Amino acid sequence: MKMMVKCGDDNCRYEFSADTDSPEWVCPRCERVIKNPHFPFLTARIMHSRYKPEEVDWEYLFEKLLEDVHKYFGQKRAFLSEGAEGAWAKKNLSDDELGLFRASVDEDPGFVDELRQRFDGDLQKMHDALLEEAQGLAAKLMGREGKD
Ligand SMILES: [Zn+2]
Repeated sequence: MKMMVKCGDDNCRYEFSADTDSPEWVCPRCERVIKNPHFPFLTARIMHSRYKPEEVDWEYLFEKLLEDVHKYFGQKRAFLSEGAEGAWAKKNLSDDELGLFRASVDEDPGFVDELRQRFDGDLQKMHDALLEEAQGLAAKLMGREGKD
């Protein structure tokens, strides 16, 4: 998906169209590299929520993020298998990360209940915690995949 990104260089501030699917973007004017802050889960919805959090339907956003996380980790099931990827995951991922991985692949409702309890039902906090934890886990898996 395309969206507008503003270069963070104070002397540049150029605004350009970037793809949410890329882990980083290069400013076409000054060539500064800008990290996609929510890769691989960035969507226009999430971007919008950062500018106008008071206008956001957090329940909807949370549901959408759950779907995206489920889809993303569903494609990485090999890390939950008995094979080499699974052995790597057991060694390199924390219990919390493995728990998130399994819960999102299986769409475990207990996982959502646990988030709800942790944040007293605050959907914005639940959304941001899920986003942060899923990003961290995805980054680890990508690090592993890059090595083969
Ligand atoms: Zn720039």
